[in-house]
Amino acid sequence: MERDAFETLLQRIATVAADYRSADAERLHRPEISYRQALARFDAETPERGVREEEALRELMEKAPGGLAAITGPRFFGWVIGASEPAGVAADWLTSAWAQNTGNAQATPSASAVEEVASRWLLDLLGLPSGCSVGFVTGATMANFTCLAAARNEVLRRVGWNVESDGLFGAPPVHVVLGEEAHSTVFSALRYLGFGADRVVRVPISPEGVMRADAFANAVRNLAGPMIVIAQAGHINSGGFDPIKEIMPLARKKGAWVHIDGAFGLWARAAPDVAHLADGFELADSWGTDGHKWLQTPHDCGYAIVRDADAHRRAMAIAASYLPAGSERHPADYVPELSRRARGFPTWAMIKTLGRDGIAAMVTRHCAQAKRFAERLAEDPSIEILNAVVLNQVAVRLGRDMDGARSDALTLKAIERIQREGECFVGGALWRDRQIIRISVINAQTTDADIDRSADAILRAWRAEREAG
Ligand SMILES: *Cc1c(COP(=O)(O)O)cnc(C)c1O
Repeated sequence: MERDAFETLLQRIATVAADYRSADAERLHRPEISYRQALARFDAETPERGVREEEALRELMEKAPGGLAAITGPRFFGWVIGASEPAGVAADWLTSAWAQNTGNAQATPSASAVEEVASRWLLDLLGLPSGCSVGFVTGATMANFTCLAAARNEVLRRVGWNVESDGLFGAPPVHVVLGEEAHSTVFSALRYLGFGADRVVRVPISPEGVMRADAFANAVRNLAGPMIVIAQAGHINSGGFDPIKEIMPLARKKGAWVHIDGAFGLWARAAPDVAHLADGFELADSWGTDGHKWLQTPHDCGYAIVRDADAHRRAMAIAASYLPAGSERHPADYVPELSRRARGFPTWAMIKTLGRDGIAAMVTRHCAQAKRFAERLAEDPSIEILNAVVLNQVAVRLGRDMDGARSDALTLKAIERIQREGECFVGGALWRDRQIIRISVINAQTTDADIDRSADAILRAWRAEREAG
């Protein structure tokens, strides 16, 4: 492609992207078409002959928008998803254009150096020990996987078993201890690692979904041998934190490796006003967290952080004769993949533009907005907020005055109506045996007015369903 034609193409998509984002606040907060309709739009035979770049891109820009989820919209509260902020998006465009396959420091010096610097910034912002290693992975799922691979290999190495060379057959058993409501992706990571999702010790939880300290003590009392404890910073429904200060000394006494799933909750540590919630989590051995949630980088971006950098490297390093060696930090030594995009660039760009004070202010604001959301909804006496709103999550039960089945059915209908009307987007979940609405406030663009507007939309939808049903 000629230089000018390439520039024209990029300018064209820049216009489309900027137009899309400038319409965020007033867009319908849901896809306009269904998956089936999207499939019908794109469905086609394998192209026999290529077309010009402009033509392919034009088709993409015509067909995709109707089926885009309004994830960047300021009233999108579904799941826990960041807003893919402009500086990160722009850095990500360069990341693609520069095509730095970020595995080896000598092969890709700038991408590797930016990762090393961004690693230091991340550890500083999150208040974690400066000697930790950081792997730039796709998200918290792979961060948990990477950290738990290091954990598995290290606790077995300590009893004389080398997983890297001998695998798991015949290895001494490893106890894995975690809360009953650990995130589903932690169980996925355990499956990938050969632990099995069910061969674990599940610790009973409090109403906030976090481990009960007394139950944790009971669970580990009679366990001996290699052990991994997985604690959570930020429960997906309540935003609650496992009682790390009680867990840690007992885990230490047992010689356990303590891993933290802190996909979003670990970021409380970056905001002085709420940092106390995650106090004590710095004492763990490893942490998985996300860039594409609270740091607002584009997808995909997560961080696998390990106190024992050697254990991290032993579990993940890729050695090959065609890769330059040397004593530098090689990005591939800390992640499962060899070839990947330079996630350090968008991470660097987001930290650079927000700064320590910007990150703190955003996290603090989201926590205050979650409280405001809960208070607005609780003005309706038939609505119950099920969690203590300490972080950015709100678990809402509609129909507290109704029997369970009716309240569940009407809640589902209300969610459908809220999504259909598109003023805001919320998801549902089953929690404490009830159908709830789950609200995550984590988009950098969300204003207090967006919270009020969304609360009004939810209250309206709830009254409509209540009267209808
Ligand atoms: C989102 C989330 C994950 C998974 O993270 P991905 O970035 O989607 O891979 C794991 N744990 C918790 C608590 C989460 O919120």
